[in-house]
Amino acid sequence: MQIIYENMLNEMRRKFPRYQISPRRYVWWARLLDKLDKGLSKYATTCGITIAVPNDFHEWSVAQRYRLIRHEYEHMKQQKKYGLGWWPLGFLIHGFLYLLCLLAGWTMRSHFEKQAYLQTCVGFHLFLLVEGREATPAEVDGSKQMILKNFCGYRYLWMDPSKKRMTRWFWSSWERAHAIAIDELYLLNR
Ligand SMILES: [Zn+2]
Repeated sequence: MQIIYENMLNEMRRKFPRYQISPRRYVWWARLLDKLDKGLSKYATTCGITIAVPNDFHEWSVAQRYRLIRHEYEHMKQQKKYGLGWWPLGFLIHGFLYLLCLLAGWTMRSHFEKQAYLQTCVGFHLFLLVEGREATPAEVDGSKQMILKNFCGYRYLWMDPSKKRMTRWFWSSWERAHAIAIDELYLLNR
């Protein structure tokens, strides 16, 4: 898993040479966000090419770090895409689409987060494949509840409040993530 994690960091370095992963306490806007909402300190927040991670991030397992950074890396790629290859422009456009209106369904937030959470799930499946095992029912349920909480709850401002729709989305993405992880591992081992 360590090699897979390092490969991803190297790829990020090639695409975003000046990106940074910093504990939240060293990033002024993350400190400000944490003052506004204490619960945020357990999350990563990406702004441009800075990923502010929880302060105890470096104590996390490689698999946990990998999943988190893979999710945030997806947001960085989204920004680059919307800026036609130039991330500062993409940062503004992506941010505008992400935050434009706070009501669910009026922003692209849910769309962007679905892409990013798919990557979180791929990270989970890669870890399982490396370990040579299947997810336990508790792990699958934990992932599902995490998705439902984040999409249907206040944390991302009810970006997709339908639990039924999000449960369907979870199962199809869970399967898809498994297939993507198998392909990626095959390419890595070639
Ligand atoms: Zn996200």
